Amino acid sequence: MGFLRRLFGGQEKPPPDNPGDPDGVYFYVQCDHCQTAVRVRADRKHDFNQEGGQYSWHKVIVDSKCFRRMPTVVHLDSQFNVISAEIQGGRYISKAEYEAFLTG
Ligand SMILES: [Zn+2]
Repeated sequence: MGFLRRLFGGQEKPPPDNPGDPDGVYFYVQCDHCQTAVRVRADRKHDFNQEGGQYSWHKVIVDSKCFRRMPTVVHLDSQFNVISAEIQGGRYISKAEYEAFLTG
């Protein structure tokens, strides 16, 4: 158990697509102003509005560098696949782009 605790215990950022986090849906955003990439976790059980058979996600994302607000609205299908995404002050990037940002 020590190994697992070290992996998951007390850290704020779970590994991407963590199989131990089936309710997590991850979004990757880059700030237009400072270019900081941000990963945001949304919870399938708590963070989505159900609209018919689909979901929407309303969020104001703030990066950790310039703290500008990036309001976003995402529409997803019943399987939580993104149908459309709108964001102000930033843009959506892929997981690969996010990881490239982290590694420089
Ligand atoms: Zn920024």
